[in-house]
Amino acid sequence: MSYQPTIEYARQQDQADPLRSFRSRFSFPQHEGADTIYLCGNSLGLAPKTAKDALLYELEHWQTHGVEGHFRGKMPWMEYHKFLASQTAHIAGASEEEVVVMNTLTTNLHLMMATFYRPNNQRYKIIMEAGAFPSDQYAMESQVRWHGFSPEDAIIEMAPREGELNVRTEDIVQTIEAHANELALVMFGGVNYYTGQFFDIPTITQAAHKAGAYAGFDLAHAAGNIPLQLHDWSVDFAVWCSYKYLNSGPGGPSGVFIHERHGRNADLPRFAGWWGHDESERFLMRKGFRPMQGAAGWQLSNAQIFSFAVHKASLDIFVEAGMPALRQKSEQLTAYLEYLLRQVDNGFKILTPSDPVQRGCQVSIFTPKNGKKLYDYLNSKGVISDWREDNLSGSNNTAGEAGVIRVAPVPLYNSFEDVYRFADLLNNY
Ligand SMILES: *Cc1c(COP(=O)(O)O)cnc(C)c1O
Repeated sequence: MSYQPTIEYARQQDQADPLRSFRSRFSFPQHEGADTIYLCGNSLGLAPKTAKDALLYELEHWQTHGVEGHFRGKMPWMEYHKFLASQTAHIAGASEEEVVVMNTLTTNLHLMMATFYRPNNQRYKIIMEAGAFPSDQYAMESQVRWHGFSPEDAIIEMAPREGELNVRTEDIVQTIEAHANELALVMFGGVNYYTGQFFDIPTITQAAHKAGAYAGFDLAHAAGNIPLQLHDWSVDFAVWCSYKYLNSGPGGPSGVFIHERHGRNADLPRFAGWWGHDESERFLMRKGFRPMQGAAGWQLSNAQIFSFAVHKASLDIFVEAGMPALRQKSEQLTAYLEYLLRQVDNGFKILTPSDPVQRGCQVSIFTPKNGKKLYDYLNSKGVISDWREDNLSGSNNTAGEAGVIRVAPVPLYNSFEDVYRFADLLNNY
């Protein structure tokens, strides 16, 4: 591929982009009368224009039908989680039975741990990535304590080798093997939120299983970003949120994957609620929990219709575009961004792997000094990205100096021109 660092080239690429029309289906925040250069879909995806009607539809359904809205109309609330199943299966690479939308991400992480982290004195350790998103760290730490173990002893964190930026798969596998006798769970992110590294899910899963442990993944930064094959990869469980790449709005609901070999095991312990109960007798209001088959059997509560409606509006767009096509464009957009960044000599360092197989669309730019100033400058020029203080090089960082600017050109609504204009601003800083 021979890229060119010009706006004409970027516009040509946009002209040739088969997905270019999807951009107009999203609302862009404005800056000085024009669309911002929105590169923050890894944090909060943009609003699909269809979200408003989807939300209003349910509001009016409520106004018109009251409680009978549960049974009426083309999407009765009683069954609402089913209207998200095929799209969610597409995102996860799973069967409809293996996925469900419910609750929020950290809640679901704990619910999955209730089933898949049942430590005993021999097997109680968890291997996770160092520098995981804080909510995941707190979830692991509190789970371990709740079971009476100490995080220092029970949690093994995988960091990159000295002097390296990313974790090597071979090191993860080797650590799993080294702890095989005492390992209960391998719990990794799909894409690390800070570096943008996409972990080798099938290899990690295989190693965990060989060691007699479960393999779970937090796919907050992978869902809707990279095509997944959770069923074929034999992952035990996965959770993700919908407000990042999946564009389902602030606090949007979470997706869950549970492999069918577990979903069909009604004896698996879990924290139960009425919505996970066999639906044919849910309203008999009887004693004695009998789970539905599949991931649906982990549901606690009736669906949060308003946020599910927005989620559905967004998921429908993903299915229309298709994850394979999105991934193809994504690889090109991110490769173009990386190419342009490598031409800028500003003393920064790219933390994200260069290998497309090991990343999604996000690129994390490490700035050794004055990082926050650069971020603020970009923001003043209409770039929406995000800033994270350095958490890699030790504790002697002064706020606003070393840190990471994360940018994510997302294939649904970002253009090659967005990428070019961002890099051009960096270049002229
Ligand atoms: C965004 C994110 C979260 C946020 O959790 P919520 O429960 O949705 O607030 C948790 N974990 C990871 C890895 C994330 O990227």
